[in-house]
Amino acid sequence: MSKERIAIAGAGPVGSLLAVMLAKKGYKIDLFESRPDSRQTNIYQGKSINLALSDRGWLALQSIGLDKEIREHAIPMYCRVMHDKQGNLSTFPYGKDNQAIWSVSRAGINEQLIDIAEQLDNVSVHFEHRLADLNFDTVESEFNCKTGKAEFNSDLMIGADGAFSKVRRLAQELPGQRISHSLEYMPQSYMELSISANADGSHKMEKNALHIWPRGEFMLIALPNPDGSFTCTLFLDHEGELSFESLDNQEKVKAFFEDNFKDALPLLDDPINDFFSKRPSSLCLVHIYPWVFNNKVALIGDAAHAMVPFYGQGMNCGFEDCRVMDELESEYNGNWQQILPAYQTARKANGDAIIELAKRNFIEMSELSGDANFLLRKKIEAKFNERYPELWVPLYSMVTFSPQIPYEYALRTGDIQKQIMDEIMQIPNIAQCWQEEHIYDRLHTLAVAKLEAA
Ligand code: FAD
Repeated sequence: MSKERIAIAGAGPVGSLLAVMLAKKGYKIDLFESRPDSRQTNIYQGKSINLALSDRGWLALQSIGLDKEIREHAIPMYCRVMHDKQGNLSTFPYGKDNQAIWSVSRAGINEQLIDIAEQLDNVSVHFEHRLADLNFDTVESEFNCKTGKAEFNSDLMIGADGAFSKVRRLAQELPGQRISHSLEYMPQSYMELSISANADGSHKMEKNALHIWPRGEFMLIALPNPDGSFTCTLFLDHEGELSFESLDNQEKVKAFFEDNFKDALPLLDDPINDFFSKRPSSLCLVHIYPWVFNNKVALIGDAAHAMVPFYGQGMNCGFEDCRVMDELESEYNGNWQQILPAYQTARKANGDAIIELAKRNFIEMSELSGDANFLLRKKIEAKFNERYPELWVPLYSMVTFSPQIPYEYALRTGDIQKQIMDEIMQIPNIAQCWQEEHIYDRLHTLAVAKLEAA
């Protein structure tokens, strides 16, 4: 029996990776992308942001042998470097030993994956094809393209078309289906700024780190690029007392940067003019159920679970979706009537969990990462984890460095760990006695009682 013909809407990082995975299994893949091919135009029309690629993403890439190629263009970030208002720096490792999250450019990884997809005979990439309509029974699809309209037939359609997915919006309009969905805008928006390389091509700040200027209600972050530059992102309320909207003239913006990012100001490339020449982009969360319709159409990546970027997991989670779908394809011998429901069962709760974790992490990044108590808590957890690696994996490590742990388990366990650590932090003089044996005895007793019972 010949294998199904699969259409994928959206050649972002997730759609492109899925195309490669399924093509390697022998499926005929049509990958549709609404934008022009950025490799031809040299203009990437998506955001020029950098992403932190971590172990879940690497595992998915490794499962089809792509990790080495991608790693050649990635920079390991072993720690976060916090910049306080006075310009003092403090460094905090992300994990143990050589554990790192890796800075990759979204455009770069996207183009690399499309290159790899195009090298496969059974993948056709159709740029400038915007999905306009889809029949969820027959999987006939209609695209707007340069020549007008184009129609395609396939056996399956996977919607990898991002946070504002057309596949999802069309599903929401299906008559008689019980579809729950929400799209929630966050108060913060974001804007990209940049720091150029030194004249000799070196980085102006520590290269192997993610830099954070945590300021409570808002923050600036910077991720390194291989050419010596940094891509910076300012997260700030969209509207309100101190917001993109309220900073409405050059003096206010200058004062804002001088007050809050004094050490970054001389490094940034013309941030004040940049601030006015760009429009802030919004951040949103997407929930939908189901993710699968008629066992012929499914959502994946941001189309299924757009989240805020504060855990650095959006793309990683999308890559994990691809790996799981690929594994289920093998498990069910290509029977999509079984693969798609199993995919939804495996991924929906995990998608919800990482959306929640990412939302909560804004506070951790923007406020707590500059807070002495918070840093002490992390040190105690790290020390305890060294002693009892089976009993206690810190939440950040569960999410970022432990792809074998489902997000949903990480969320639940992290909540219990928080209760335990709240109790430990109440111990008198904890800042002075945190290295003493009795602290770890108490922690062990609590962890055994609460974590093993859960
Ligand atoms: P997208 O990247 O949105 O790609 C969807 C594609 O579909 C696009 O190419 C679009 O043009 C195309 N498309 C849309 N509509 C149609 C249509 N009708 N027809 C055809 N094609 C269509 N994630 C991480 O893992 N780590 C990070 O550190 C991180 N940082 C981030 C920082 C910021 C500021 C932001 C905004 C996001 C960040 N993310 C991060 C999230 C990450 O960017 C997304 O999760 C990831 O890009 C999702 O990939 P995707 O392929 O599902 O969707």
